[in-house]
Amino acid sequence: SAGYGRLIWRDGVFMPWEEATVHISSVGHASVSAAFEGVHAYWSSTRQTLHGFRLREHMQRLLDSLRMSWLESEFDADALVGATVELLASWQATGKDLHIRPWGFAAGTHRQQMVPRGTPAEIAIETWEFESKLGQGRTCTLAVSSWPRFNPGASPASMKVFSNYHNGRLGTIDARARGADWPVFLNASGHVTESSGACVALVRRGRLITPPLSDGVLDSITRRTVVQLAREELGIDVETRPVERTELYLAEEVFLMGTSAEVLPAVEVDGFPVGDGRTAGEVTRAIESRYHDTVRAVTGDHDAWLTPVHLG
Ligand code: PMP
Repeated sequence: SAGYGRLIWRDGVFMPWEEATVHISSVGHASVSAAFEGVHAYWSSTRQTLHGFRLREHMQRLLDSLRMSWLESEFDADALVGATVELLASWQATGKDLHIRPWGFAAGTHRQQMVPRGTPAEIAIETWEFESKLGQGRTCTLAVSSWPRFNPGASPASMKVFSNYHNGRLGTIDARARGADWPVFLNASGHVTESSGACVALVRRGRLITPPLSDGVLDSITRRTVVQLAREELGIDVETRPVERTELYLAEEVFLMGTSAEVLPAVEVDGFPVGDGRTAGEVTRAIESRYHDTVRAVTGDHDAWLTPVHLG
């Protein structure tokens, strides 16, 4: 065997990681137009299998990002899901949780800055182990970024393209320089948008509040999940509405949500303690616990969200 996780799926072919290279001349222009996804597959001890979590929706979002980037994919969402399940099958025996990175970029070497519309996309899928932090009492601190969020009218937040992450990186470095873990970005109207790689939610007077997509927020699959679990399974009222910076300072609870962040409670924003300033609040803990049980297929009726990996 080539070893767990050492395979890359590339345009329909499984190949050893070492062989999945592109020429140096392609890197710059390919990066400008590249779109990607981050997906998790969680091991379920109840069902003794890995499940891709909302895998098809992530693949559809990748195809949507490529479409908006004027790149043509020869693969549909089902083909990308099928390829991922095969990659996951090579990990199944390890019982590990996997991070899945599907991405696409302009195929070939381009010597003009503006890669034209209709350029074929090359698509690759990579997998690696990650350690879930759900249910381990993990927390973070936040700082409002001194860099405002990029204008979604100029570069849509709904496109998960690498070029949107330059702003995220500047804000992350800025937050760290001020002693916080993650940034929170405001848009030109001063509304809270999102973090560099996760969405933001807060709890005020027992209600869960998250900024609307129209303020410049990625249509996060974790956000969709959290909103649905809160509303339908935990009986929490949810509001999607613009959020002012100062509400972060007054909120009972604040947390980040995203595939990699999972549900990550914040205990401080700009130096203001959130709740007791040390531990997650009650609503966040309930959501984190329900999210854990959902992705690991412990509770609930979420088979539509779970793509199992059957041992051949
Ligand atoms: N916002 C940004 C900027 C992100 O990069 C991510 C991670 N993909 C998210 C939000 C969360 O999205 P998802 O829940 O789909 O992972």
